[in-house]
Amino acid sequence: MKRFTSWLLSVTLALGWGLALAAGEPMLVVGHKNPDTDAIVSAIAVAHLKTQMGTVAVPIAQGQPNPETRFVLDTFQLAAPPVQTSVAGRQVFLVDHSDYPQAPDDLKKAEVVGLVDHHKLGGIATDKPIEVWVFPVGCSGTIITRMYDAAGVPIPKSIAGGMASAILSDTQILKSPTTTAEDRTTVTRLAKLAGIEDINALGMKLFEAGNAELKSVSGKDLLQRDFKTFMMNGKKVGVGQLEVVNLAFLTPRKDDLLKAMSDLKAEGYHSVFLMLTDIMKEGSDFLFVADDAGIVEAALGVKPQGSSIWIPGLMSRKKQVIPGLEKAYK
Ligand code: MN
Ligand code: MN
Repeated sequence: MKRFTSWLLSVTLALGWGLALAAGEPMLVVGHKNPDTDAIVSAIAVAHLKTQMGTVAVPIAQGQPNPETRFVLDTFQLAAPPVQTSVAGRQVFLVDHSDYPQAPDDLKKAEVVGLVDHHKLGGIATDKPIEVWVFPVGCSGTIITRMYDAAGVPIPKSIAGGMASAILSDTQILKSPTTTAEDRTTVTRLAKLAGIEDINALGMKLFEAGNAELKSVSGKDLLQRDFKTFMMNGKKVGVGQLEVVNLAFLTPRKDDLLKAMSDLKAEGYHSVFLMLTDIMKEGSDFLFVADDAGIVEAALGVKPQGSSIWIPGLMSRKKQVIPGLEKAYK
């Protein structure tokens, strides 16, 4: 009996080990820090695609979904990816970012096997050739739709709904200057797949879901909701953005936000910027905490008074603000 038990144990161990060897650990698909709808849905969509193509992959996220993303996940019955911030020793596919500051902190201890992004390239280096999908379109979801087409894999209804939402979110309901013709045709096609009848109505609903908690969230958490850190000419620069369907929602929070920005600057940022974007009026109230206000004038061509300025037509952080700041810091 004893001999049988130990035989069974060794067979079980061998079998388990063999399976582990055959399967390996699944590839991780991860979006940027402070994940938005595109970062989370793109991780889900790419993990599904890769798994269908024969490489087992799982989505993870570097933080909990924000209220807008929770609304999208609930609406299209998608599971939130588990929060995991360490990727050391794993194969990793990056979505919706391609730079170290937005990536998991220990990414250099992982093997990047691919990336899909629609932001500026941020200097990820690899030892081996990798798969890269980078195009100047409005949303990673648009590029991932191309990836499904290229692989001949059908897009599941739930993922189509998630990616349509990501496109509406990233392009501010197709109004942002980052919106391309391909984003428009893709969102129409995905909406059809997902059974979405009114694209605009969905867009309004998801922004409203994101705006619902603006009154109750602390200034610090509000600032972090969609906040990105960049290294510009050796200086740490933070740029946040909050998008609302009516700027009046945010006006009572301006002092809290400026205080949170000063606190953050004191923690080692050279300067901290925040766009309060009104997607209906199509412009942004631009808040800043910087030792030299001249940097705002150099970056955006407007002369601010005090610590904020309304800039009509300013909607895109990556297309309108970051390039100007990069230039101003050089
Ligand atoms: Mn994003
Ligand atoms: Mn995106």
